[in-house]
Formats: sequence, C-alpha cells, structure tokens
Amino acid sequence: MDPLMTTHASPAFANLAEIDTSALEDNYRFLRQLAPGSAECVAVVKANAYGHGLSLCAPAAVRAGAHWLAVASVEEAIAARAYAPQARILALGSILPGWGATVIAHGITPCIWTLEHLDELESAAHAAALGPASLAVHLEIDTGMSRQGAALEELPDILKRITPSSPLRIEAVMTHLYASDEDNGARSAQQYVKLDEALRMIQSTPAAAHLQYLSAGASAALLGSDAADVAEMAQRFGLKPMFRLGLALYGIAPRSTDLQAPAAQLPGQPVLKPVLTWKTRVVSLRTIPAGTEIGYNGTFTATEPMRLALIPTGYADGLDRRLSNRFSLLVRGQRAPLVGRVSMDMAVLDVTEIPGVETGDEVVILGTQNRGTQDNETITAYDLADASETIPWEVFTSIGPRVPRISV
Ligand SMILES: *Cc1c(COP(=O)(O)O)cnc(C)c1O
Repeated sequence: MDPLMTTHASPAFANLAEIDTSALEDNYRFLRQLAPGSAECVAVVKANAYGHGLSLCAPAAVRAGAHWLAVASVEEAIAARAYAPQARILALGSILPGWGATVIAHGITPCIWTLEHLDELESAAHAAALGPASLAVHLEIDTGMSRQGAALEELPDILKRITPSSPLRIEAVMTHLYASDEDNGARSAQQYVKLDEALRMIQSTPAAAHLQYLSAGASAALLGSDAADVAEMAQRFGLKPMFRLGLALYGIAPRSTDLQAPAAQLPGQPVLKPVLTWKTRVVSLRTIPAGTEIGYNGTFTATEPMRLALIPTGYADGLDRRLSNRFSLLVRGQRAPLVGRVSMDMAVLDVTEIPGVETGDEVVILGTQNRGTQDNETITAYDLADASETIPWEVFTSIGPRVPRISV
C-alpha cells in the first residue's frame, strides 16, 4: 500500500496536491516523440513519483505507453510493481545482501556494478533454479560522477563473471550524464570517452551477448544536445538508446532547455505540461494593528494595520521555512506575501491588499490559480526552488505525506 495515497481527502480540503494524470500522459508521449533513434523512454517514478503519487503516476505512464519504470530501491520497486504488473521495473540504487530473492520474486531489474552485486544475484538465481541468461541486469559504469557504477579498471573482473552459463544477462550498459544541463558539453564529452571505452571492453566479451540498450541520460540529456550524442554512440555499438526521464515527465523542463510551459510557443506546438498543483485554503482571518509581531520570534512586525490569512500548511508539508518573509502565494489571483516564519503546520499570509478574502478561499502554493479569466497567475516549481535556494526536484519531493495527492 502506498502510504501517500490518501483516499479520505474531504472535498472541503485544506491542503491538497491535484495531479493531472492526463498531462503526465501527454508529457510522456511528447518526450518519446522527441527521443532520437526510436529510443526507449523510461518513466522515472522514484520518490513517490517525484512527490506526485506513485499510485497515480505509475499507471498513467503505462497508459501513455511506457514499457519501463525506474525507482530508487527494491522497496520502491515492490510498491511500483503493485501499480504496474506488466511493466519492466528498473531499480536504480544498490542491491544489498539479502535482496536477491526479492528482486527475482517481483521481477525487478537491478543495476549492478560490483562483484558483491553479482554474488548476491547469482546465488539468489541459483537458489531459484533460474537457467542461463534469465535475470536481466543493467551494468552501470562510473564515467565521472564517483557515485554509482564500476570504474573502467573494475570492469574486466565483472565481465569475466558474465559467462554464457551465468544466470545473469547484461541487458543495458548504463551511466549517468551528470552535466547535461551545462552549455559547453565538456563534462559529457569526457563521459563519452569513458563510456566508449567501456562499451568496447564489453563488446569483446561473451557478456555482450544479450546487450540491447545504451542507457545514458536523464531529462536534461533528452532535451539537450546529449540526446543526439547518445543516439549516435548507441547506433555505433548496435544498441538502442535509453533515456530515463524524471522531471520532464512531470512537466518541468530543466532550466538549460526552453520547453517550460507556458513558454511562448507556437500555437498547436506541444509543450510540457506541469502535472501538480498544490493548493490550500484560508482557514481563518484577523486584523492586526500597527506594531504587532507575526509568527515565531516576531521576525515580521506590522508597520501599519494589516489583514492576515492563516493557511494550514507548514514546513512539515513541504512549505520550505526559508520562504518565510520572502515569497508570496496566490489568493484571488494575486500575490499574498508569507509574513513571519512558516511554522510546522501553518503559515500566515498578508492579504491587506487583496479585497474580499474570506475563510475557505483557495490558496495556490504551486501551480496556476485558475480564475476562469485572463488574469490567471502561476507559481512554478522554479519560482519556489529559487526562493528556497534549491531545485525543483527537491521542491516536489519535499511535499509531505500529509498532503493528499488527488487525481483531477
Ligand atoms: C533520478 C534519475 C533520473 C531522472 O532524472 P531527471 O533529471 O529527473 O530526468 C535518471 N537517471 C538516474 C540514474 C536517476 O537517479
């Protein structure tokens, strides 16, 4: 059971993330059509689908045609399997000792890069009486990030273990392009040199017998110049390119690209569509005289009489405390500043300049406040990220478990 899937959200919600699953489907199809060389596009749904709700997003990606989902861990893979019984599920993180049997039982495809991974998976495969080449693995190469992946020097010892009688087969060679968002491409170029060398080493061994994919990049790679380079390298080695798409699937283009909706696009031209709208409501209002302090430690003092609106959303919900006194949310299509410190469970907005605010009014934290008129206002994940000194990935994954994710 997905702990973040809430089924008891009241229609009179006070704190809610609306998930537009058809936008996610459109994004997936759009990205796949952009991908060069009939690439395989993996829908990355780790971290509860980037905070958007695994139970909503995994089936949506599959509906849009995704054959592959990727998650961080075996635990997440088990959760994803429940929502996508037929999909291939790639676990991007380390396989720990003892996890092999679970990987096999749930049909999970692990990433491997150490001899310990081989030991664990081989013994689990033997225990399950699997025949040769029956457990697909993605072999990760460290091409510069020093995080996961085998170093080139470690590769021969790994490849020696993938004999024709091994229960494992290498289905993909994988690496993580970690600077696809940089203009000059120098880091990617260095990574390609190592990747090329790794592929040549692999190709000359029986371990290459079942190799199908070159899995190299994330959203910024597909939407930037790395896409063509990955496709070219894949073709040179007779492989199919594979891209692992997270942020773009949720409708946010990495800043290095200019696909972010609602960018000025030609009419009819598809754009990425943000999938998540985070809303709360005004639950109480008060008027304060000049000189009154607001919130913990009185970091804000009213210099004139003010009208304040209370929202039941705080940093425990993912409303970053660094937004205190420096960001505004949307009320009645206008910007209402967060005044005083954001508390754990609530925050205070200055609505002095916004006429007619009432208890129950919708407040948009992230997304577009749809007013049925031309004056819709939008807060993007980048707006929130900039104000809280982080990145959209962290903004999304910080939205807390108290915020129900509801399909719209
Ligand atoms: C999270 C992740 C991705 C997806 O990255 P985005 O930038 O969100 O598209 C791709 N590959 C790996 C290995 C990842 O961990």
